[in-house]
Amino acid sequence: MLFTTSWDDGYASDMRLADLLMEHECTGTFYICPKPQYGKEMLSKHAIGLLAQRHEIGAHTLTHPDLTRIPIELAQEEIQRSKIWVETVSQKPCTMFCYPYGAYNEHVKNFVKEAGFFGARITENFHCSGNDPFALPASIQFYPFPLRRIFNRRCIGPLQKSWKPLRSLGIPLTSLRAWLPMAKVVFQKMYESEEPWFHLWGHSQEIDRYGMWSDLEKFLKFVKGFENTKCVPNSSLIPTTP
Ligand SMILES: [Zn+2]
Repeated sequence: MLFTTSWDDGYASDMRLADLLMEHECTGTFYICPKPQYGKEMLSKHAIGLLAQRHEIGAHTLTHPDLTRIPIELAQEEIQRSKIWVETVSQKPCTMFCYPYGAYNEHVKNFVKEAGFFGARITENFHCSGNDPFALPASIQFYPFPLRRIFNRRCIGPLQKSWKPLRSLGIPLTSLRAWLPMAKVVFQKMYESEEPWFHLWGHSQEIDRYGMWSDLEKFLKFVKGFENTKCVPNSSLIPTTP
């Protein structure tokens, strides 16, 4: 089974994540947008250059808009120019794209194809295969589960969103108490079903914000314990990649 991870936006904490992935012999994919998000410190151009030497860098637009809600000519420009920006900063070809907020439609998807990308990631979870390289789903998001802190409240949103797919996978209730036990059981199910790949994705600033570094480390160790698991960047899931 192929194991791949992707990390969005380009937060400064991606460098810590990059080191952690390397310690576990994992090449990740970082979808970087030059516009700062949520007032957080972002990667410098120099840091992106360093990151590109060890991991894959994908494009994530220039200003992080919902591409389905802006004029189509602007959407096209955001997509085309973000590829050029990543290639200039990373000094490497940029073959993968990620739609901000996972929002796309047929126009947007075609712009991504026409810009010369090989594939694009979306934000749908609980998938371990996909036929459309320009709507590549994920398996699990790395975030606080079953509760997520929003403003000053703890919200049940993550559990509500995932309840149906988790139950249809036959995940036992006892595994839904926290992210790590839930993720381990989902991975094991997918592995035993001989699914082609498992795709973990998230935001490094959330790992920081919610103090989840050790959960991520434990999960990477857990995955490594399975025979026939190979860690690859997102582009390796695309059959046409040279
Ligand atoms: Zn994003």
